[in-house]
Amino acid sequence: MTEATIAIDGPAGTGKSSVSRGLARAMGARYLDTGAMYRIVTLAVLRAGVDPSDSGAVADLAAGVDLGVGFDPDEDRSYLGGEDVSGEIRGDAVTRAVSAVSAVPEVRTRLVQRQRELADGPGSVVVEGRDIGTVVLPDADVKIFLTASAEERARRRDRQNVSNGLPGDYETVLADVRRRDHLDSTRAVSPLRAADDAIVVDSSDMTEAEVVAHLRDLVEQRARVRQR
Ligand code: C5P
Repeated sequence: MTEATIAIDGPAGTGKSSVSRGLARAMGARYLDTGAMYRIVTLAVLRAGVDPSDSGAVADLAAGVDLGVGFDPDEDRSYLGGEDVSGEIRGDAVTRAVSAVSAVPEVRTRLVQRQRELADGPGSVVVEGRDIGTVVLPDADVKIFLTASAEERARRRDRQNVSNGLPGDYETVLADVRRRDHLDSTRAVSPLRAADDAIVVDSSDMTEAEVVAHLRDLVEQRARVRQR
């Protein structure tokens, strides 16, 4: 397969992370998780005792954050000031605050620039996020917008909660999925939307393996078209 830059966007709960990692693995590509970068900045904000809704203070702090991420799809590695914070950035505190932090324009400007530098490395790369095809890499070779119905995403999250020992509460989870969809798609800076030239893939009735296989086919088709 020829080298390619793949952008994968979409809302939470579509299996986007697992699918992006699976595609990177299958292609022998590097994998860049841009959500992890917003989470690292959010952790720095929380550790500094800064109010995530104070956008001026968040912007000032973000300017000095020393963050690092790994490219291996099989290993989730995120660093803040050299410290491995891979587990901590997935915790509830960061998850609750990350939307506010990622809505600050200065945070986005800085991280988008960093994401472009990181994506521009050797070989193929799969870049996962919310605004990759629209803002970060508008010239990506293949743009995928992964969706699934709100009901299916809520069902998956609810099942995941139960398997993590939390009580099941489908209606509450569904309301939360809808609330986040609304916030993400109506925010002023980089709202979540499919790029005009993105291929929309609905994963509601597909297994993870089926989605990865489908995306591989799409990447290969595009590569053949480009070679013509
Ligand atoms: O993908 P993940 O859930 O880890 O992303 C965490 C949060 O970071 C998202 O809810 C979103 O608010 C933000 N994000 C973003 N732009 C990206 C990636 C993530 O605004 N490219």
